[in-house]
Amino acid sequence: MIKVKAELNAKIDRLEMFGAMPTDELQRRLKVSVAKLIENPWVKVRFAADCPPCECCGEEPWCPEHEEHLADCPCVGPTQDGYEYRDLPLGGLEARRSP
Ligand SMILES: [Zn+2]
Ligand SMILES: [Zn+2]
Repeated sequence: MIKVKAELNAKIDRLEMFGAMPTDELQRRLKVSVAKLIENPWVKVRFAADCPPCECCGEEPWCPEHEEHLADCPCVGPTQDGYEYRDLPLGGLEARRSP
């Protein structure tokens, strides 16, 4: 994890140098991704069957949270390699990266 943090800090420095993004926004986003990497929280699994179809192509399931095709968004599906799963008491699944 310390290595991850160092890499992200290096990334921040580089992006700042090029003025790619307002620093505050960049810092905020990177902090969120670092927190996710370190905490590895349980997240609710999103099933394709629970997603509405995409309005553009009418085929792919659409993720309303990330506003992308479900296949391209960061949501975790029910059978993803490198994840462990547990049942939710009220139905559904939760997942997190396997240790
Ligand atoms: Zn589409
Ligand atoms: Zn998503």
